[in-house]
Amino acid sequence: MPPTNSPANGALDVVTTALPVMEAFYTVQGEGLYTGQAAYFIRLGGCDVGCAWCDV
Ligand code: SF4
Repeated sequence: MPPTNSPANGALDVVTTALPVMEAFYTVQGEGLYTGQAAYFIRLGGCDVGCAWCDV
């Protein structure tokens, strides 16, 4: 059964599934369990908190 927000024909509903991608890049993980390993970052926008230090 398709999700309730999908059109009846099963196609993705772009209006409700699109994400605001701000950046996407390969890098090296700098923290945590995977420090030093290759990583692909996808940074999303759309947060409404408004921190002064935010760079997205
Ligand atoms: S740093 Fe603040 S404004 Fe930026 S994404 Fe995180 S919570 Fe949102």
